[in-house]
Amino acid sequence: MERALALLGAGEVVAIPTETVYGLAGDATNGEAVLRIFEAKGRPRFNPLIAHVATMAMAEQVAVFDRLARRLAAAFWPGPLTLVLPHRATSGIHPLVTAGLDTIALRMPKGFGAELIGRFGRPLAAPSANSSGRISPTTVEAVATDLGGRIKLVVNGGATSVGLESTIVKVENGRLHLLRPGGVPAADIEEVVGMALLRGAKSGIQAPGMMASHYAPNAAVRLNAAHVEPHEALLAFGPERVPGAGEVAAMLNLSPCGDLREAASNLFSHLRALDGSGAKTIAVEPIPVDGLGEAINDRLARAAAPRSGIDVVT
Ligand code: AMP
Ligand code: MG
Repeated sequence: MERALALLGAGEVVAIPTETVYGLAGDATNGEAVLRIFEAKGRPRFNPLIAHVATMAMAEQVAVFDRLARRLAAAFWPGPLTLVLPHRATSGIHPLVTAGLDTIALRMPKGFGAELIGRFGRPLAAPSANSSGRISPTTVEAVATDLGGRIKLVVNGGATSVGLESTIVKVENGRLHLLRPGGVPAADIEEVVGMALLRGAKSGIQAPGMMASHYAPNAAVRLNAAHVEPHEALLAFGPERVPGAGEVAAMLNLSPCGDLREAASNLFSHLRALDGSGAKTIAVEPIPVDGLGEAINDRLARAAAPRSGIDVVT
């Protein structure tokens, strides 16, 4: 904690555990610190960052909360929900964080991150602590392997509990737009607010989690596999195996009992491990789309997407 505070105060970046994935944190009010985040990740500058806060008071200094936004914050913060809200011109947040938009993405994390921000006294910008376009890190080892040469400190908080990035919801004119499914199931949000989240095409900035190729392993990814070939690795789910599973060299099960929460927490570490097995293709068994399954299937679809180059964003 003390080393992290000293580095942040000096405008450096620090990798920290949060309940979603490990974040690469920097002082959101310091342009140099924010630039270091983009540089360490190789992240395109037009891609805005989430600002993390420790208290509602800090959040309200940065963004304008209407009743709907307050209700969501009360229900889900601290936790894996990011709100995109009107940005206050007086926030002190560096414009690189919002990529010049008049909205800002805000989240209040749990645990070490919250304590760190509270003590630091200013919001931290913190995207996932991985090279842009690659698999998000859920362990300190994953951060060190990917970014170790480029950052001075990784705080070890063990494996992250949720294992998926936050759900991103834009609050606009009394409506809620789901920009990215994530650690809070959409149905939980709909239950709290008593209205449906709007999905699909939305003008304006799209979340990078929405770009086609993202979360990409080196191996190709084959979704909804009805069988598996001997040369493939298998990412399994639930108690029953597809034909051919007995022949593969590498197999990991996201959740042998079919629990989506467990599957979410294992997703990125299992993808990394199977990627490291040397198989050229990872076959993935079908995973239900309800609850956290929406975000799991979203990440897998992006991991499987063709990698065109221009599309790959953090
Ligand atoms: P990451 O930190 O890599 O999980 O990604 C942060 C996400 O927040 C990205 O999907 C951004 O595009 C999204 N985001 C940040 N600021 C905004 C904003 N003002 N409007 C819409 N999306 C945003
Ligand atoms: Mg990311």
